[in-house]
Amino acid sequence: MSSSAAGKGIAGMDAASTRDSSVLLDVRRLRTEFATRAEPVRVLDGLDFTLTNHHITGLVGESGSGKSVTAFSLLRLLRPPGNVVSGEVWFRGRDLMSLSEKQMTAIRGREIGMIFQQPRASLNPVFRVGDVLNHVLRLHRGMKGDAVRREAFRVFQEVGLPDPARILRSYPHELSGGMCQRVMIAQVLAGQPKLLIADEPTTALDVTIQMQIVHLLRSIRDRLGLTQLLITHDLGLVGEMCDDVLVMYAGEIVERAPVVDLFDQPSHPYTRGLLASRANRKDRDRLYSIPGTVPSLVAPPTGCRFHPRCPYARQICSDVAPAPEHVSANHWVRCHFWKDVVRDPTSAGRDTVAARG
Ligand code: SF4
Repeated sequence: MSSSAAGKGIAGMDAASTRDSSVLLDVRRLRTEFATRAEPVRVLDGLDFTLTNHHITGLVGESGSGKSVTAFSLLRLLRPPGNVVSGEVWFRGRDLMSLSEKQMTAIRGREIGMIFQQPRASLNPVFRVGDVLNHVLRLHRGMKGDAVRREAFRVFQEVGLPDPARILRSYPHELSGGMCQRVMIAQVLAGQPKLLIADEPTTALDVTIQMQIVHLLRSIRDRLGLTQLLITHDLGLVGEMCDDVLVMYAGEIVERAPVVDLFDQPSHPYTRGLLASRANRKDRDRLYSIPGTVPSLVAPPTGCRFHPRCPYARQICSDVAPAPEHVSANHWVRCHFWKDVVRDPTSAGRDTVAARG
């Protein structure tokens, strides 16, 4: 079978699709633009990907690659000048892009929850955290009376918050950053969602607390089977937490693979650059950084958007955008020369996956 998928796009290349019960979310040709005084700027350019039930999928890339815009587009939380202009997002048999705002409001929180990078800023400062949690339990679960308090205690214990009675009475400013993130996660779990979107959930926390939140999110996946989309710039975190990886560059997904396959055989030069530049605890003196910066999407590079930074680039790269090609069954990449990339003996990234056991 030819590995070329030219002309087909990515839709259908993933082993799973919405007809497959293992798929929770199926994103098809999603395009998001930001209006400007001149031409609209396309910040997401035809995203196609699926999220597998009970998996943690990492969406990884540098700042400005479009990761957070992806999350806000999926949940239809973008505000003008941002706008989803086309595409479908299939979730449990419904296209979220075609629902009314009222239907979408019912899905947010109840079926899809989201946590953010700045947990304290994401919590309402004028309400005690218990008031918000009680509201979620009444609104999304229809609970009343003592059942609300019992469930609030149970959810706080589930996320490892000590002394639930005290924390329920607290305002966000009275809690540490790590506690605020646990409260955010508790508020999401209280709605019993099917999908959690976590946008850089550990970036604002110190290293010890980061590891605690990582373990908490993994244990939630293991104990509750909660599907998660983890947005991060940190491939090391992806290696520790995720089952699958989507690598994003300049508004496009450039590589998708199970995490072990991605670390074993990174096939896009950008993925290899991210792997080489991640903080290597053993050898910080030789830290590599990808030359250049993510391009402006006002006038993105022609052909392959990575070509101005790519050590493997040839003439065709600036002329023709690469179509996605299969590396293996669940692993695909957008690169004209991925076979040369794979044959290149310099490699990185195996330690992180090996280390998590
Ligand atoms: S298509 Fe060309 S420029 Fe783009 S990643 Fe592959 S080799 Fe580099």
